[in-house]
Amino acid sequence: MKRNIRFDCIETLKSSDKPVIIYSLTEEAEAIANSCKDNGIVVTAFCDNEIRKTKKTYCDLEVIYTPELPNIYKDANFIIAHHTLGDCAEQLNDLGFRNIFSPLELFRSYEVKRYKHRASQSYMEKKISNAMKINELYFDDAKTYLRSLDVVITTKCSLNCSGCSNLMPYYNSQTNTDNEILEAVKIISENVDHISEYRIIGGEPLMNNNWAQITMGLIEQDPSRSVYIYSNATICPKDNHLEMFEGKNLHFYLTDYGDLSRNMDRVIASLKKHNIGFYRKPAGNWVDCSGIKQHNRSIPELKQVFKECCATELYTLLDGKLYTCPFIANAANLNAIPDIKSNYVDLFEGGDLKNKIRRLVKMNNFFPACDFCDGRPHDPANAKVYAGNGLIKAGKQLPRNEELPFVKFK
Ligand code: SF4
Ligand code: SF4
Repeated sequence: MKRNIRFDCIETLKSSDKPVIIYSLTEEAEAIANSCKDNGIVVTAFCDNEIRKTKKTYCDLEVIYTPELPNIYKDANFIIAHHTLGDCAEQLNDLGFRNIFSPLELFRSYEVKRYKHRASQSYMEKKISNAMKINELYFDDAKTYLRSLDVVITTKCSLNCSGCSNLMPYYNSQTNTDNEILEAVKIISENVDHISEYRIIGGEPLMNNNWAQITMGLIEQDPSRSVYIYSNATICPKDNHLEMFEGKNLHFYLTDYGDLSRNMDRVIASLKKHNIGFYRKPAGNWVDCSGIKQHNRSIPELKQVFKECCATELYTLLDGKLYTCPFIANAANLNAIPDIKSNYVDLFEGGDLKNKIRRLVKMNNFFPACDFCDGRPHDPANAKVYAGNGLIKAGKQLPRNEELPFVKFK
């Protein structure tokens, strides 16, 4: 048991008379619900910190808004479907709940093929295998692991979304960022114990004409890697590029911005033609976290903004540096925050990189850059330290010629 999270899920939950709740509507939550059914565990409900997700049922069960749980249940068993197990357990502990379980046993006994899922089968298989690895590594303190590494290959985007959490509308000269990118990925992977997912992102990654070569280079470094292209489906990848990836560990994650994702159908048809797995997700609403300004927060406020943040493990590689989140990566790249070494690891600077990366990954306080960020809480309505505009409609477009203002630090 670590931080009150237990392994012995199946036998305990089968014989318990308390309600069983699956925490967080991740893609893996669906598999956990199926596996519970297979193992004779009756699930009562799901819960999620995003109130907008609680309006509809999920797998025919109610979805409860997590902060409301104590008003509904005095006691309950929770299975964590989210990758940040420690943070989830901490929130449940703060709400007065103690019976918290890792889904590892449920994943181990789960046969993806037996069920249909919202995502494609191969995508789901990868997700479950990554989630198992994350759960195993979570209980191993000696290891440094990254649930995902976002590899930024361009700051160009085919859309110009207000509230972009990657800060793209602040760039007035957008560029591809593939210089030495493969070398940087190699350095990171040699200095951590495991990276579950490599995500090729932008901007829109397909705006970089070299996206296929970079992606292939990343897979060739280690063909067992799970690689995902995060795309807004405005650009259809060419057949000769997709052919290169047939039979490889590559998937697409397609964010659906409705009419703006003008090539969605063509992209899906091409991916199907080349047997490449994908997941299509409606953009929905976002928590606004795109403001850049100094807040002069106190130390307790900085700790709180970091504690409430949902992006503290969105490790981002940009221009030879490793960051904990896309805000710091892009704000630093734009020179919109002071250049403070403790905000990142410079992968080409040498020194004891293993330790430097470990310090960044194990950070549980805050980074100096957090003072320039509005915050990115799961639940903006109940966040104690948050300065953004709350939930905003995803994909609202800014005029192309509009430059967002920020103060440059050099
Ligand atoms: S949020 Fe919009 S502007 Fe930002 S990277 Fe995605 S598609 Fe581009
Ligand atoms: S700067 Fe800090 S608070 Fe903002 S998204 Fe990154 S980790 Fe979270």
